Amino acid sequence: MAASTAAPLPQYEAVIGLEIHAQLQTASKIFCGCSTAFGAPPNSHVCPVCLGFPGALPVLNGAAVDFAICAGLALGCRINESSVFARKNYFYPDLPKGYQISQYELPIAVDGAVEFTMPSDSAQGRHVRVGITRAHMEEDAGKSLHEGFTDSDRKTYVDYNRSGVPLIEIVTEPDLRSAADAAEFFTRLRALLVWLGVNDGNMEEGSLRCDANVSIRLRGNPTLGTKAEVKNLNSFRFLQKAIEYEIERQTDLLEEGGRVVQETRLWDAAAGVTVSMRSKEEAHDYRYFPEPDLPRVHADPARVDRIRVAMPELPPVRRQRFVADYRLPDYDATQLTESRAMSEYFEAAVHAGAPAKAVSNWMMGDLARVLKERRLDIACSPVPAARLAGLLSLIERGTISGAIAKTVFETMVATGRTADDIVKAEGLTQIDDESAIVGLIQGVLDANADAVAAYRGGKTTTFGFLVGQVMKQAAGKANPKRVNELLKRALDS
Ligand code: ADP
Ligand code: ZN
Ligand code: MG
Repeated sequence: MAASTAAPLPQYEAVIGLEIHAQLQTASKIFCGCSTAFGAPPNSHVCPVCLGFPGALPVLNGAAVDFAICAGLALGCRINESSVFARKNYFYPDLPKGYQISQYELPIAVDGAVEFTMPSDSAQGRHVRVGITRAHMEEDAGKSLHEGFTDSDRKTYVDYNRSGVPLIEIVTEPDLRSAADAAEFFTRLRALLVWLGVNDGNMEEGSLRCDANVSIRLRGNPTLGTKAEVKNLNSFRFLQKAIEYEIERQTDLLEEGGRVVQETRLWDAAAGVTVSMRSKEEAHDYRYFPEPDLPRVHADPARVDRIRVAMPELPPVRRQRFVADYRLPDYDATQLTESRAMSEYFEAAVHAGAPAKAVSNWMMGDLARVLKERRLDIACSPVPAARLAGLLSLIERGTISGAIAKTVFETMVATGRTADDIVKAEGLTQIDDESAIVGLIQGVLDANADAVAAYRGGKTTTFGFLVGQVMKQAAGKANPKRVNELLKRALDS
């Protein structure tokens, strides 16, 4: 390969469309009562329906439909009042029926869009709009196990636990123009689905997978170039790297006078390249036809409204409300609405009486650090929102100083006790009393005659040193503002 530039040559433009498979968070499978729990022993969550036994009848799981409608609404889609399941025929060991039940001509959700601003692209941030062509429901296939058995060199095993797990496939318009935009879009989409509770966002377990369709064309050319599809990218980094690689590969091909062939490719993470899996000529004819064993899916307006009303406030709306209601900087509001759990923690702390900006600072500072160290989600924070509020109220009321609050917080993390408790038990209440502080100051002035003389001789930088000495005598508990005032008065008198 010639040049190794991540961006296409300036005369070329990359065109990218994504297809995302997201597992819907139902307890049971889409057409039977088997569990969807991850990690069970192979073939322990199976029955005649999801093993594809002849004559076993599928029954649609209504909860999966509700999740699909919820996702569709959040993606700005129109929900089809009536949608249809079809049989997509192909033969593969992990597909026991010889066909996959999937929505085809009439999917449940169509014509949506996701909009966002690219971070730190420029001071303004570039606006990106990605059309959502469709979102349709389908069942997952089983999983072929090529490794891990003594006879894996000769045999492939199949685990059907995943067969029949409900999925939604989200198909975008070819609106993306760079690997970075595609990765950002996928990040936002994941956050949205997790926020809604539609998907758990776990890419390692395969609950969220992405296929990237990539083509190149001369800038200004209105027609699309021939695309290659890179299958099953299961991390943001792989998605970005695979697209970058494809853009480079296709650009080089065109530059050398060749042409891109339409094909399916796989990302080889170890080698950092995409490799051809099958060309479109070998592609399947899926011979779709309506699934005769399932009635049409009904998403009548009442059902859609019920789901709409029950939906949580969405991230961009919540972000704006945080700015408006709590006077937070946009930066803070953006950080706090990265996840629903985080935004809920914030509001719970504020409702418990803590000042909004202080909650935000602590969440982005000490709390974020502790959660990261302990690899904990904020929902499992060792310091729940109401307790953080308790700590912040003590600072607000002047009971403890900001410096003491930091150590109290560490004790809260370590012991699970309340701030009140710790402050009382350890006598950490701030010394505000004038005579007590003056007494400490006098002691420090007596013990540091040289520094005092230097200060009085014009070397005012020793002031900070003397403040430090007083705070040390007070074990950090003196109100620093009072110490400053009273020390200045004592020195200048
Ligand atoms: P196919 O028939 O191969 O499945 P579709 O038209 O259904 O192709 O599109 C599948 C995905 O590929 C969509 O996300 C779409 O936006 C994207 N796509 C289609 N054509 C192109 C292209 N020329 N370049 C990049 N992406 C494309
Ligand atoms: Zn089953
Ligand atoms: Mg297609």
